[in-house]
Amino acid sequence: MCAALCFFAIVLTCQGQETVQAPQKQYKEPLKDRWFFSYGYKRNRKDVEKIKSLIDIAAEHGLNGMVLSSFGLDSITRWNEKDIALLKEVAAYCEKRQIELIPIGFSVGCGGGALGHDRNFAAALPVSISLKAEAGKLIPVSGENLVKNGDLEQSSVNGFKEYEFHDRPGKVSFVDRMSSSGNYSIRFENFGNFQHGLARIMQKVAVKPGRVYRFSFMLKTKNLQPISGLKAIVYANGRLLTSIYIYPKVKPTQEWTNVSLEYINFDEKEVSLYAGIWKGETGKFWIDDIKFSEEGSLSDIVRREGTPLKLRSRDRDVVFVEGKDFDSIKCLKELRHISLPLGSSIREGENLELSCYKIPYVGRSWGKQISLCMSNPGLYDYWEAQAKMLYQVIKYKRFLLSMDEIRNGGGCISCRKRSISMARILGDCITRQYTIFKTIDPKIEVMIWSDMLDPAHNAHNKYHGVVGDFTGSWKYVPNDVTIVCWSHRISNRSLSFFSGEGFHTFGAAYYDGDDLTNPKEWLVSLSKTPNADGIMYTSWKKKYRLLVEFGDLVSENDIKEKGESGL
Ligand SMILES: [Zn+2]
Repeated sequence: MCAALCFFAIVLTCQGQETVQAPQKQYKEPLKDRWFFSYGYKRNRKDVEKIKSLIDIAAEHGLNGMVLSSFGLDSITRWNEKDIALLKEVAAYCEKRQIELIPIGFSVGCGGGALGHDRNFAAALPVSISLKAEAGKLIPVSGENLVKNGDLEQSSVNGFKEYEFHDRPGKVSFVDRMSSSGNYSIRFENFGNFQHGLARIMQKVAVKPGRVYRFSFMLKTKNLQPISGLKAIVYANGRLLTSIYIYPKVKPTQEWTNVSLEYINFDEKEVSLYAGIWKGETGKFWIDDIKFSEEGSLSDIVRREGTPLKLRSRDRDVVFVEGKDFDSIKCLKELRHISLPLGSSIREGENLELSCYKIPYVGRSWGKQISLCMSNPGLYDYWEAQAKMLYQVIKYKRFLLSMDEIRNGGGCISCRKRSISMARILGDCITRQYTIFKTIDPKIEVMIWSDMLDPAHNAHNKYHGVVGDFTGSWKYVPNDVTIVCWSHRISNRSLSFFSGEGFHTFGAAYYDGDDLTNPKEWLVSLSKTPNADGIMYTSWKKKYRLLVEFGDLVSENDIKEKGESGL
């Protein structure tokens, strides 16, 4: 999973850990599977040596499996021989140390190898973009700024005019003469003195369906911590539609910098625009020149079945022909204009409208988080080829489907013409993934992250930018997949839910704490769960300092003897 909680989960449901009751009956035998998650080590000599050293620790401290992440296993058909050799070396070392190697891959929520293979595999939303013909090109036309008082020049004793709120005027937010343009900006400080460390400014704006918008502002920081708390967010009707995590572009101390996020509106009428910090602790920052305007970006236009494209004149009743009146449009990360070939019937100065399908995304520190379309048949052919080749290289017995945090989908014609819920589309996708492995070898066991199948987590309506409802998704997957629960906050609820539905379960524990409180609590939860198979040391920060202690803890016969007095 992407190791980042949605901000509303933090702000609105920050209720701490569930109370863990001491189990009626103590757990007597170690869990069958005791694994660690190899994260952040890639296909190179130095990282392979590091993985081998972790395998040594695991083998010497009672662990028996390693999920190999970060290796790009679902793009193996594009690897060179050196990469294949490195994977074989890791697999051979696992075998020698009697550590099972479990591959992970086939992410829909983060695109994975399939997106690298073909960007057109992305989920897409219908949009119309205004264009103008100028000097042999079609150029996108930008709309006016929809944010009122975006330059923050108008304020009163109550704060900045036109905004719904800014946090704690006079205590956390202030009018400041340090401006990016004009005379004033908003300054935030002292937020660490208050619960949740909130320092934000918000305005609601009216939006049209099927339009692309750009949300941007200028930002300046001074000794700000934690910088990872800075975000820009588009929110409406109980859902976080999209967001951008501003770091690492902005440093703790930084001069005025432009922050920008594209938002594709499917059918909302009004959205709330947030900019600021969540869980802020120390330092200051300033925001100025807030803008939200229609922007006809031509980047990331998806071209596949289910994503048709049409260019028409807004000045006369004409539809233009791709390849004849305008150059063919490809799905490119960056496309600034469309060229007009000789003989085009588009007139100089003509106003046009392009109807097409564009990729929505969530902005991450590492780039754009892009979901795949689960209704594209080509995706399954791609995955099948990867699974087969991977099996030729390493004879894996289990595979962990990286099917978490699917934040977009359901908007293209291929999805909508199926006339089934997103829960069924997701269930069908997982079933097809499962079938790929069972066809290779019926003995391969399939595992999956829990969140998209968990009603207490992400299996619900209004999930981020998804068009459709994930409620009930758990009913549409094979009942012998093992569910790897990963949210510590709801661990008891999740484990008992999936167990009650007849699934085997697993606990993805740890998450980079400074001690083993988290895995100890997972062990108690797992001990109360029928058919709980295992526990995993799951780091998202390459933090393996506690792996020795973890191995000893989970391979002990009776956790009570190890003392869980803190539970
Ligand atoms: Zn689709």
